[in-house]
Amino acid sequence: MSKAIQAIRGMNDCLPSETNIWQMVETVLRRVASNYGFAEIRMPVVESTALFKRSIGEVTDIVEKEMYTFDDRNGDSLTLRPEGTASCVRAANQHGLLYNQEQRLWYMGPMFRHERPQKGRYRQFHQFGIEAFGLATPDIDAEIITLSSRLWRELGISEHVTLELNSLGSNQERAEYRDALVVFLTEREDQLDEDSKRRMHSNPLRVLDSKNPAVQEALVGAPKLSDYFGEESKTHFEDVCRRLDAAGINYVINDRLVRGLDYYNRTVFEWVTTSLGSQGTVCAGGRYDGLVEQLGGKATPGFGFALGIERLVLMLTSLEKVNNVRPQVDAYLIMLGEEVELKSIQLAEQWRNLVPECRVQNHCGGGNMKKQMKRADKSGAQIALIIGENELAEQKVTVKYLRGQHDQETVLLEQVPSLLKKLI
Ligand code: ATP
Ligand code: MG
Repeated sequence: MSKAIQAIRGMNDCLPSETNIWQMVETVLRRVASNYGFAEIRMPVVESTALFKRSIGEVTDIVEKEMYTFDDRNGDSLTLRPEGTASCVRAANQHGLLYNQEQRLWYMGPMFRHERPQKGRYRQFHQFGIEAFGLATPDIDAEIITLSSRLWRELGISEHVTLELNSLGSNQERAEYRDALVVFLTEREDQLDEDSKRRMHSNPLRVLDSKNPAVQEALVGAPKLSDYFGEESKTHFEDVCRRLDAAGINYVINDRLVRGLDYYNRTVFEWVTTSLGSQGTVCAGGRYDGLVEQLGGKATPGFGFALGIERLVLMLTSLEKVNNVRPQVDAYLIMLGEEVELKSIQLAEQWRNLVPECRVQNHCGGGNMKKQMKRADKSGAQIALIIGENELAEQKVTVKYLRGQHDQETVLLEQVPSLLKKLI
């Protein structure tokens, strides 16, 4: 036998035993997005490399070391998208969606980053994202954070996530702060680790959210970004906070929260959990007022977030929030005898027409009663519908209950639809 080919490391199959929980999560995400008046947009998974370099930033982790970049056969540099916002802005620009109009959009799909695979961190993973364009006022910030908060409520995990909130100010304010921070960090360079020393020059704000306790120690007394805010940035942030307070949404202000992508300004936020080990961020986002223009469009404010679906699925599984998932089949049809078998498709089709929510599986592959019953049981169905020559002649069906205590019974064929309705 030749050696079997395996999936690429960090790129997972989603097996039938898991797809039902994925579908449950996806259904909630779609429903909530549409609840708030957001429309779906779908972008390709491959884009020009330049798109991500220009938006995410040349010296971010993603662009420096995580992108799947390759040359197309004609020599163009392409990249498997590492995130959705840049593609979404590209698409909105390209199709004129941003001309004097606001847009409220959502997307869902696979993203690719060459990271070290571990629990909650993969090379192909899935994000659900929300993006709103054309709205500069803090009300949309609060509206979208409220939307994210509803997701946790509907998934039953509200008590397990915390909202962290910060403001990055304007680009100008951040640049001034950056200089002050570099001065501070330079004085303490010997206390920093290699990673932070490197970042100190390329992307100093990222040093603030270093996970290394020694670095955090060295940061005590560092200048505060909010001290560099002008009136506008201050009121914007206060306004977001006031609206969240009014909506009853709890948050913690974390002045070290800076995010790993360059395009953010003003409000940034993350939803974090302690139930996932070190991959604790479930959802992250913020305001990106300069991005549309940076990618060649007319200056248009933006606000959005992305959440990792794998991390949500892991949370729901470990918190045992998934035990009400329905089995694959509700009713299993067993037909005995050649004449009868000929009728099986016709009958099953009739029932599927009449009770579309009910999942009817037709036995295939022949065999005696014992074999067919075994399959019925394995299918997870609640009932087996058994039809032999005698039953067919009398227009009847024997109903065998496969779960729990319930005696077998015989009903008329015409009563089957109402029986199936009761199963759901
Ligand atoms: P992290 O700090 O965990 O690396 P990030 O800041 O790189 O996250 P974003 O780019 O903001 O993450 O992506 C938004 C969300 O997508 C994250 O909060 C996380 O839930 C999910 N995510 C990001 N990278 C991965 C990955 N490699 N595998 C699985 N989920 C991921
Ligand atoms: Mg990352």
